[in-house]
Amino acid sequence: MSERPRVDLYSDTQTRPSRAMREAMANAEVGDEQRNEDPTVRELCSMVAELLGKDAALFLPSGTMCNEIAYRTHTQPGDEIILHETSHAMHFEGGAPAALSGVMLRPLPGERGMFTADQVREAIRGNGPHFQRSRLVSVENTTNLGGGAVWSVRTLNEIADAAHERGLATHMDGARLMNAVVASGVSAADFASGYDSAWIDMSKGLGAPVGGVLAGSHDFIGQALRHKHQFGGAMRQAGIIAAAGVYALKHNVDRLAEDHDNAKRFARLIAQIDGIGLDPDAIETNMIWFDVAGTGLTAPQVSERLLRHGVRIGAMDKRLMRAVTHLDVDTAGVEEAARALRVVVGEK
Ligand SMILES: *Cc1c(COP(=O)(O)O)cnc(C)c1O
Repeated sequence: MSERPRVDLYSDTQTRPSRAMREAMANAEVGDEQRNEDPTVRELCSMVAELLGKDAALFLPSGTMCNEIAYRTHTQPGDEIILHETSHAMHFEGGAPAALSGVMLRPLPGERGMFTADQVREAIRGNGPHFQRSRLVSVENTTNLGGGAVWSVRTLNEIADAAHERGLATHMDGARLMNAVVASGVSAADFASGYDSAWIDMSKGLGAPVGGVLAGSHDFIGQALRHKHQFGGAMRQAGIIAAAGVYALKHNVDRLAEDHDNAKRFARLIAQIDGIGLDPDAIETNMIWFDVAGTGLTAPQVSERLLRHGVRIGAMDKRLMRAVTHLDVDTAGVEEAARALRVVVGEK
């Protein structure tokens, strides 16, 4: 289908840069980013370093590259990374931890994409030469396949302490960290304080077209800079795209609360539809996962029927669907999507 759906809840990656954001991009001051001479990239990096409470930051083309450069910087080939079994790096980064860093992954189970410090302590291996070396703990805040859940700072700090006590480093995939911040009132720096590296994605709910920013200590960022070159992530007049990130941090953070309200509204509306399974009280941020098995249709069937009504919601497997709210969908949009869902599950 080439025509754009009227209401696109497929992901918060579907946002298009607004006119004002494009103007900021067109007017950006630029320079050679590889030589650290791009003033707009430098501005964005210092904004994110301060936001995350770190010394320094690197602008990268994608969130995936933020994870993978952090992994490459924290580990050596043969090391092991402890993370959640549903994490993005485990499923959606093309096997990059193995391909680019030569590491093994140690997936942990746990509710809603989260795990505990006790699980981390149990997973850390002994020092014998027959073991791979446990080297890094990686968490996701908010969780993606975990349904947009927000970690408690206490659990995050307990995990970081458990890791650091045994000499492991810690990394936070904060693709949607600003959603966690707006939903909880906890600052990004407080969420990230126990984490040696952390990043935010500019191209999810913040609405920029490209980019992620990875932050950490001077030493970490210095080493990560070499890997940025190795991975081909060093750019030239990247201020054009960094300007969208600067704009997003100034204008699109507080408004994430609207996305969260729309997500809750959508969840409450669809919870009333026969055969739709979800707990509307479990919605914390901008994601709504729901089960359509009770309708007698599969998730791909529901997804396809919704498209004919101008609504796009992704099927994640046979029975589960995921809707994500964002700045290009308003309250009328989620109401329209809920009405369309009611209609399509009623069609025989
Ligand atoms: C989207 C996402 C990424 C990857 O970001 P891209 O900018 O799409 O490369 C990593 N982690 C999580 C949790 C994500 O949702």
